[in-house]
Amino acid sequence: ARILQVSSKVNSTWYPASSFSSSVPTVKLFIDGKFVESKSDKWIDIHNPATNEVIGRVPQATKAEMDAAVASCKRAFPAWADTSVLSRQQKEIAKLITLEQGKTLADAEGDVFRGLQVVEHACSVTSLMLGETMPSITKDMDLYSYRLPLGVCAGIAPFNFPAMIPLWMFPMAMVCGNTFVLKPSERVPGASMLLAKLLQDSGAPDGTLNILHGQHEAVNFICDHPDIKAISFVGSNQAGEYIFERGSRHGKRVQANMGAKNHGVVMPDANKENTLNQLVGAAFGAAGQRCMALSTAILVGEAKKWLPELVERAKNLRVNAGDQPGADLGPLITPQAKERVCNLIDSGTKEGASILLDGRKIKVKGYENGNFVGPTIISNVKPTMTCYKEEIFGPVLVVLETDTLDEAIKIVNDNPYGNGTAIFTTNGATARKYSHLVDVGQVGVNVPIPVPLPMFSFTGSRSSFRGDTNFYGKQGIHFYTQLKTITSQWKEEDATLSSPAVVMPT
Ligand code: NAD
Repeated sequence: ARILQVSSKVNSTWYPASSFSSSVPTVKLFIDGKFVESKSDKWIDIHNPATNEVIGRVPQATKAEMDAAVASCKRAFPAWADTSVLSRQQKEIAKLITLEQGKTLADAEGDVFRGLQVVEHACSVTSLMLGETMPSITKDMDLYSYRLPLGVCAGIAPFNFPAMIPLWMFPMAMVCGNTFVLKPSERVPGASMLLAKLLQDSGAPDGTLNILHGQHEAVNFICDHPDIKAISFVGSNQAGEYIFERGSRHGKRVQANMGAKNHGVVMPDANKENTLNQLVGAAFGAAGQRCMALSTAILVGEAKKWLPELVERAKNLRVNAGDQPGADLGPLITPQAKERVCNLIDSGTKEGASILLDGRKIKVKGYENGNFVGPTIISNVKPTMTCYKEEIFGPVLVVLETDTLDEAIKIVNDNPYGNGTAIFTTNGATARKYSHLVDVGQVGVNVPIPVPLPMFSFTGSRSSFRGDTNFYGKQGIHFYTQLKTITSQWKEEDATLSSPAVVMPT
C-alpha cells in the first residue's frame, strides 16, 4: 500500500496536464533525477481499455534524450553500486527511541534502519510464499500446496531495540496474511506507536495491527487466548522460557529469541587495529544492551599482549545522554539495571578477577541522575565466575585468555548460550575451523556483530533460542504460514472407476 501511495504521488508529477499542444496529459521523461517534457515530435496515444478514451500521450524519446538517460546512468553507476540498496532512515522514530531507551541518536537510527530492512524483505513475499506443484503424480492427478496464513499472531518485544524488533514481527506476519497483536516492551512503547501510525497512513485496514500494553497479565493473555495462533517473543530467558512453555501448552507456535553471552575470539594474526576498534565498539556500543554485544573477549596466544591497548581505546569513549553530540554510549535503561550491572562487576572483584577499567562511579555532567555506567573491562576472568556466567547486559567486557584456538572453542561451546560470536584472524583456515566447530547461531569472521540481513534468518543455538522456526528470512515466512496440500484428479469421461477403490492408492 505504501508503494502504491508513493507511486500515486509520482503519477501526479509525471502525468500532469500537458503544456504540449492539447489538453491530453503527457507522460514525462525521468532523466537525471528530473521529470522532463520530451522535445519529441512523435507521440503515442494511451487509451483506457474500458472506454477507449484517450487518457494521455507518451513520447517516443529523441536520440538526444535517450543518450542523456544512458549517460546519466553511467555517471551514477559507480556510487550506486557501492551503496546499500536499503539506505533509508526514519529520524522521528529514532528521536523517540533515544528519548525512551537512551541509546545514541546515530545508534537509534540504525535500530530503525535495520528494522526497515525487514519491511523491504517482507515486500518480496510474493515469491517467498510460493507453494509447490507436482503435475501428473499419477495418471490425471496433480499435487500442489499453498502457504496460508495462520490467523491472529502476536508479538512480545524487549526494550533494547524499540523499532527493529517489532519490525522483525508484524511486517512479516502481516504480509503473510495474518493480523497481529503487538505488545511492545512497556519501557519503550513510543516507537511501536509511531510505526503503527505509519502503517495506518500507508493504508493498512483497521484491525490488521493492534497494540496492547502491559506486563505479565498481557503476556499471559497472549499465551492463553485461543484465537492467537502463534507468538513471537524476544527478550530474556526468564520470560522467554515461560512464554514458550505456556504458549506451547495452549497449542500455539512459539519462537523465542533469548539471552546471550557472545564471545569475540582474537587470534594473534588478526589485524590489530581493526580488531581492537571492533571489539570496543561491539562491547560498549548501546551501553552493551544488545543481544549481539560482544561481551566476552578471548585473547589467544600473543594477542594477550593487546589488553592494555584495548583498555586505552575503551577509556576514550564518551559517555553522555544519547541526544548529545559525540556521545558513544548512553545510559542503561533503569536504575535497577545499573545496580544489577554494578553488582556483577563487584562479583568479579570478589571472585578474583581484575578490574582494568571501572565505569561504576562515572558522573555525567548535566545528567547526574542518569543510569550511567562507563566502559568497564574485567580481566583474569575464569568460566566459573559469576561475571562470566551471567548475561551482564551493560557496558562491561570480560576478558579470558587461552593458549590455543581449540581451548577457545571449548569455552564458547561450554557456555549455555549460543547467540552470536566473532573470530578475528587473517587466516582463512582458522576462520573456517572456528565457524564450523562453534555451536552458535550467528558467526562473524572479522565482523563483530553479525546480525543477519533479513533475507537470511536470525537464529540462535542452545539456550539462546526456543522453537524450531526462526525470525525473518524464509524461516519467518514458514513460521507465520501453514501448508495446505491439494491432490486433484480430473479424469476424462471414458476413464470412470468401475468399482470402489478399497486399497491404499499407490
Ligand atoms: P524481558 O524478558 O525483561 O522483557 C521482554 C518482554 O517480556 C517484555 O515485553 C516484558 O513485558 C515481558 N516480560 C518480562 N518479564 C516477564 C515475565 N517474567 N513473564 C512474562 N513476561 C515478561 O527482556 P528485556 O529486559 O526487555 O530485554 C533484554 C533481554 O532480551 C536480554 O536478555 C537480551 O539478550 C534479550 N534479547 C535477545 C535478542 C535475541 O534476538 N536473541 C534480541 C534482543 C534482546
